[in-house]
Amino acid sequence: MHEAVPRRLALPILATLAACPGADPPFPPYEEPRAPAVRCPSAPVLVNGGTNPAPDPGATCVQAVRDSALPAVSASATHGWIDLGERTVGEVVPFPVPPGTASITVIEQVVDAAARMTIHFASGSTTQTFIEENAAVVAELRDPAGFLVFTDIRLGGPSDGSATPLFFESYAAVTGTLSYPNTSAALEVAASGVAAGDWTVRVGDYGYECALAGSPDPPAALAGFSCDPPGAGVTPFAQGRYRVFVLTRPAAPTGSAIPATGTLDVAFHLVDALAPGQLMPVDAASAPTHAATLRMVDAYAVLLSQAGLCLGTVTFLDAPDWARSRFGTGVSDADGSACGEFSQLLTLSVPGQRTLDLFLVPRIGSGSATLGIDGTIPGPATVNGTVASGAMVSAANLGAGTCPAAGGPVDVLRCGSDEVAYIAAHESGHYLGLYHLTEHDGRHWDPLTGTPSCRTSCSSAEVSPAACARSTTCGGGPNLMFWSFDPLVSRGYLTAEQGQVARTSPLVR
Ligand SMILES: [Zn+2]
Repeated sequence: MHEAVPRRLALPILATLAACPGADPPFPPYEEPRAPAVRCPSAPVLVNGGTNPAPDPGATCVQAVRDSALPAVSASATHGWIDLGERTVGEVVPFPVPPGTASITVIEQVVDAAARMTIHFASGSTTQTFIEENAAVVAELRDPAGFLVFTDIRLGGPSDGSATPLFFESYAAVTGTLSYPNTSAALEVAASGVAAGDWTVRVGDYGYECALAGSPDPPAALAGFSCDPPGAGVTPFAQGRYRVFVLTRPAAPTGSAIPATGTLDVAFHLVDALAPGQLMPVDAASAPTHAATLRMVDAYAVLLSQAGLCLGTVTFLDAPDWARSRFGTGVSDADGSACGEFSQLLTLSVPGQRTLDLFLVPRIGSGSATLGIDGTIPGPATVNGTVASGAMVSAANLGAGTCPAAGGPVDVLRCGSDEVAYIAAHESGHYLGLYHLTEHDGRHWDPLTGTPSCRTSCSSAEVSPAACARSTTCGGGPNLMFWSFDPLVSRGYLTAEQGQVARTSPLVR
């Protein structure tokens, strides 16, 4: 019951540059904050993964529950995957967090729940009515002392969640992921490790919140809300069932619990039109040695190195023919539901692989300004094959333009492969848990104090990268995680805090 934050990287709507009041000209001395890049010990290994073996599901909407690629926690493995099994919404489930833990991630996958609901919200003399897709979202998370780290039983969220223990604004159907720590306040506390002991998660979704709102004694935070009862044959709101996982990431042996560096394995899925009529210059066989993809991986690695991340194995896969005929001439981002084209494309991420899966498509939508879109923030790391397991990247400019020589700086203005790398790195940032520094409206910010914010006063309409590159109150435009892309301003910077959040992901090894 919250406004979802867009997970898209868009082209700026305004071609003209709006001025930051009082700062034009001259600009105040201002340097956009950025973390130094890590030096990687070796170059990534590029691999031809062949054709994706995913079978054609036909007209079915794929929503299979998938396992994690991490080892299960056992007597010999203190960290990894804890399968809490199938649970009904409202259940409070304990799970152990061992000493020496850097982060915890909770994943809910729907087994059986209402797909959507009609919600009424009464405020004063007016009542708003809207139809909402159900969202798989944890209702509550508590630490071993019983402290409420996160609750979704609330109205709206903070504009700036940096002081909250856990920030979440990425509501999505079917598969939901929550990760701790992801705010400045939590990073400070968790520097010495996540509190060990029995944590608890209250399983939830929007249906559960509907059931609470309609109960005899509803929580104050849900005052004014009511939901129409589900139709005949639809699972009652109080009986939704989810498979629940917890993933724990081990702490670094010395220093801060969050490791200073890490390695990420990536899969690039080439979703090209069927022959003849291909739109991309490469396939999985040629990609490991083709100039366009070599340059793309080079630039992608440079951008991620600012988060302390090195690339391990980079696998290229051709989409199977059925998927190429379905998605290969462009994928619409108009339908954000779990059965929409985009979510169904993500189910092609190969189950059982500990990879971040990026789907390169010839174009997104039809004339849309969207360059990339991620499943959820964060993504269900290590759980591939779900409707949220990966991100889609426009490869319209792969191989176009003039690129720097190998090892040269990223040039998103002239080099098409660098632009594709930039979009891929931005969407990867979302998958690893990073929010936009400033949303398009200039009123919502990421939960990190070290990233510059940009205010509505910086721009006359939507905040643009150019309007947000001028001062400490009009900053963030050059950062990789700014909401929109402008080749003249976007630099792909990341801050130290952003790197820390990214390295809490269970995908990072
Ligand atoms: Zn984005």
